[in-house]
Amino acid sequence: MSNNNEIQARNALQKMKPYSPGKSITEVQRELGLTNVIKLASNENPLGPSPKALKAIQASLLELHRYPDAQTTDLKQTIASKIGIAPEQLVVTNGADELITLVSEAFLDPGDEVIVPDPSFSEYEFGATLMGAVTIQVPLQEGYLYNADAILAAVTSRTKMLYLCSPNNPTGTYLTKSDLQQILNQLPSHVLVVLDAAYSHYASAEDYTDGLEFVKAGYPVLVLQTFSKIYGLAGIRVGFGAAPKEVIQSILQVKEPFNVNALAQAASIAAAGDDEHVRRSQELVVGERQRFYEAFRRLGLEYTESMSNFVLVKLGSDAFACYEKLMAKGVIVRYGRIWGLPEHVRITIGTPEENDRLITVLQEVIASS
Ligand SMILES: *Cc1c(COP(=O)(O)O)cnc(C)c1O
Repeated sequence: MSNNNEIQARNALQKMKPYSPGKSITEVQRELGLTNVIKLASNENPLGPSPKALKAIQASLLELHRYPDAQTTDLKQTIASKIGIAPEQLVVTNGADELITLVSEAFLDPGDEVIVPDPSFSEYEFGATLMGAVTIQVPLQEGYLYNADAILAAVTSRTKMLYLCSPNNPTGTYLTKSDLQQILNQLPSHVLVVLDAAYSHYASAEDYTDGLEFVKAGYPVLVLQTFSKIYGLAGIRVGFGAAPKEVIQSILQVKEPFNVNALAQAASIAAAGDDEHVRRSQELVVGERQRFYEAFRRLGLEYTESMSNFVLVKLGSDAFACYEKLMAKGVIVRYGRIWGLPEHVRITIGTPEENDRLITVLQEVIASS
């Protein structure tokens, strides 16, 4: 046997950058010999999963020898009545990440152009590169704000998709409803808009839109949602998309039949009905966001006001050293270099106790640097 085979992966794979998930609690415990580690790095819900979801999972365990419902009928019905849209306008996926891959597979040919805001979520580029499409980055403006004119100026005859992440990860800034209206009015009809509303439940601004009203009005918009963030189910992987029927039908053509497992379906049906859990999670974030701002101001740190459950904070030229010192003190945040922001960190809002600890530790780190 020889290892000198000539098997080659697709050319597109040479351009693909691996996703960097950040360090886990157990990794940091092991590597640094720490016990009490907190993670404010992945925008998870610090209140945990909905208790109703946990009960639903337990009740489903004895049926695990059965295949899950390939159509996710009950879950789609639950979502449909909750957001006021027809089940035919929904697709449920193994996390919203899978939806990004599926929409790329369904709509992108080699050479197509995909417009993405910069900085933003890295999976958009992943999907585009996977299909041999070209990513066109449009920088956010001063203060990381969206600029509708700049986005429209990037559109060409080859543009196939336009991603808008609102609230945007990692900046927390958002696209106003009037800007989205302007973009939709002026966009050529061959462009599909993907509005990533993963953090929509945390957006409290009057002029914010989660995009669903535009889907209902018939615009070529795919709204992406997830059960990973406010619903606290990141570990079980459920997301969904809402769009015009024809868009959904194309996505369904590339979807594997059993992409959403049985426990995930049961859990998200229950979580979608747990308004109390959602309300508590929202209140926590909106209140603690203000406390973060006050602390950052007190520490003399520049930050970007956020409509989400995380805040982008500027630590300056020794940001990486600060990030490492925070980790050495058992607090994991996300370092900004992956977004081209080497002087920033993104800090997820945790429980009040976790946030107290972050503030104390950040103060110590800044004082020592
Ligand atoms: C977390 C996140 C998602 C979806 O995550 P899944 O866990 O795959 O559902 C999508 N978009 C953004 C911007 C996110 O931050």
